[in-house]
Amino acid sequence: MHDPQRWYKETLAIAMGRPPRVPGTPMNVPPALATSFHAGGERSYARDDGTPTWEALEEVLGALEGGLATIFASGMGAVAAVFANERYTGVVVPSTGYAGVRRYAVEYAAALSIPHALVDITDTAAVLDATTPGSLLWLESPTNPLLQIADLPALIEGGHARGATVAVDNTFATPLLQAPLALGADISIHSASKYISGHSDVVLGAAVVRDEARSERLRGHREFAGAIPGAFETYLALRGIRTLPLRLEKAQANAGSLARDLAAHPAVEVVRYPGFGAMLSFDVRGGAAQADRVCEAVRLVNHATSLGGVESSIERRQKYAGEAYLPPGLIRMSVGCENVADLWSDLSAALDGVRPS
Ligand code: PLP
Repeated sequence: MHDPQRWYKETLAIAMGRPPRVPGTPMNVPPALATSFHAGGERSYARDDGTPTWEALEEVLGALEGGLATIFASGMGAVAAVFANERYTGVVVPSTGYAGVRRYAVEYAAALSIPHALVDITDTAAVLDATTPGSLLWLESPTNPLLQIADLPALIEGGHARGATVAVDNTFATPLLQAPLALGADISIHSASKYISGHSDVVLGAAVVRDEARSERLRGHREFAGAIPGAFETYLALRGIRTLPLRLEKAQANAGSLARDLAAHPAVEVVRYPGFGAMLSFDVRGGAAQADRVCEAVRLVNHATSLGGVESSIERRQKYAGEAYLPPGLIRMSVGCENVADLWSDLSAALDGVRPS
């Protein structure tokens, strides 16, 4: 009965990463504010040996993803560690995924003097055609912010058949809705700043892998490149991940409802919602100016970047460097856990003010 291997993910999120049950001691792992540890034990220095708080979060995330988790100071810290640690002869990266990763991948490949390919991840055959032997195949699904879906099983299998290492950015789906490692991927990446933490108060990242040697290499990279997570950030993410299943359930239900309402609003041209998760995007009729008006008109929904918090937020994405390919009126929405009637009343009032020319 007491077998974590058989627990549901809701249970793992709550039960893992706990200290031993010693009478009179805390149930939670506290934020370990430590540079040094008394000599003679398993740890001596935090950057080298980690802290109990890091390990608690890694245990929970590892259990949810079905692998060995290493946390980093940010999602990009985790991405950079993967690029630095894998051995590859080319990089294949989504042309429409998170712009930060795309830019990093292209620049890293250039620095290594190896080829890169920007691919449409919805076109499985094209992605696999571009995956030359020994590539690092970087996948993201659903993509940020177009919510495109990749055929992960086919891409992972096809990538491996071509001798590629396959990484999947699982930030949008979370480990609850998609299990890249169980699908065969080598690496699952998170911006833990988003759903894992869930309260828009932390920047943190993680790489989760199946292979022990790969995990050791990532830890070695963290130790020597130094992108280590902060004690408070880790504690907040650990506290946040306990409620990930509850938050996601509520936010996902809200997102489904808003996607339907948005599709019926005359000021909305297109709604993109993959049918799961709590991210969506929609195009406002009248382009950038009208979408900006909507972002400025909301009073409950936040006009802010980032995503995955209990608070709903929107922003127009095409304004960012690297996002020029997007429709000018595209608004990305991170749907939170507020009452959905309040959300729709706020959003629809903002959309009612749209004056497409
Ligand atoms: N991956 C995705 C899909 C993201 O949306 C982001 C950030 O927005 C990142 C990675 C980078 O994570 P971080 O901002 O925590 O460094």
